[in-house]
Amino acid sequence: MDTAPFIETFRELNDSFLKLIDSLSALRGLSALRVYGQSDSQLLGSALDVLMQNQDMERCSVYLLRDGKLVNAAGLDWADMIGLTQERSSGHAPLFASFEVGEGLVGMAAQTGLLQHSRNCENDPRFARNCRGISPAAMTIGSLISLPIKASGEVLGVLNVSHPHAEFFTEAQERSLVIFANFLGQMLVNNRLLNSMENMVRERTRQLEQALADAEALKRRYAELSVIDELTGLHNRRFFFPESRSALARSLRYKKGFCLLLLDIDHFKGINDVHGHNLGDEVLRRCAELLRQQVREVDVLARFGGEEFIIAVPDTELEGAKQLAERIRAAVKDTEFNIDGRRIKVTVSIGIACLLAQDKADAQIILERLISEADQALYFGKHNGRDKACAYPEIACFL
Ligand code: GH3
Ligand code: MG
Ligand code: MG
Repeated sequence: MDTAPFIETFRELNDSFLKLIDSLSALRGLSALRVYGQSDSQLLGSALDVLMQNQDMERCSVYLLRDGKLVNAAGLDWADMIGLTQERSSGHAPLFASFEVGEGLVGMAAQTGLLQHSRNCENDPRFARNCRGISPAAMTIGSLISLPIKASGEVLGVLNVSHPHAEFFTEAQERSLVIFANFLGQMLVNNRLLNSMENMVRERTRQLEQALADAEALKRRYAELSVIDELTGLHNRRFFFPESRSALARSLRYKKGFCLLLLDIDHFKGINDVHGHNLGDEVLRRCAELLRQQVREVDVLARFGGEEFIIAVPDTELEGAKQLAERIRAAVKDTEFNIDGRRIKVTVSIGIACLLAQDKADAQIILERLISEADQALYFGKHNGRDKACAYPEIACFL
């Protein structure tokens, strides 16, 4: 019996079986791809790698529809195929970086939504047109399949596979490529959806972070404004009390000195009366600036009221406070403010109070007492000619 036909049939079946396994392997490889956060080109590049590894073919590429054109997105484009890689790497655009819809097999696949199979490119007019005057023989392409990549009926692009031999691809391969392309289409859509969702989430997160930062800045600004005196830019009473109380508590704990200076501009009403309220405001600003220059970082300086200022001076005994008060008094007296062409001079009276060695009470109670004593010393100075710095411990006996 002649067994040759059986052997031949067996070979064909075996061949088909192996190609079927290849096709299934390609699909399995495609489904195993991790594509999250990739671009279209990255995803397609990986998909084409899988295809090349599992299918018997020479070249493959994908052209995606962008603004009505088919643009090369992955794989080897026709320029590579016809040996123009050198020209391409020299900076020239590839000959076939894009196709019009309807142009060549690639364009026809996109236009019709149907697979285009050129079994012998050399004799195929579709292919010849496609090659822009270059003979298919020169490109060593015998067979070419261009098939649309679709998702939900919409054409997204075209997958091309080729082989140097004519009549190379079988019908079974055609069918498996259709499944591969459909699979690829769905992956593309999912990947784009995922990317756009990620972009949306990223944008929303950015907006939320910005809103949060703005809110924080606003909160800080309001918090700042509520403790800053608008006219002079110095801290106000709201800031002064808790700050000086903490400083006083520290001085008590570490048995250090602590003094308080209360300052009041002399005859300030007269400045307003003679030069107007606006100029009076400017005098207050200049005096505030002058005071700011005289105090240390640890001192707590604030505008206490109209033309009154207060300074808490930690780690300082009476002698040090008297020196500071005297320095301030002299600096104010010696300064001539030039405001709107007018030369203005003012003086200040200063009352000084200080923590006593036997002070044991609560910081708040001591602070209130020190303010009261500084106030009495200040008015002692007012009644005794103004432009004076008086310390409570030294004038108490005259009260
Ligand atoms: P003394 O030497 O006794 O302190 O006399 P004085 O005129 O400074 O004191 P008095 O308490 O009689 O007047 C204080 C003046 O300070 C009256 C008030 O209009 C003025 N004043 C208070 N706050 C402001 C302010 O923010 N701007 C201006 N321009 N004037 C203010
Ligand atoms: Mg006053
Ligand atoms: Mg005054």
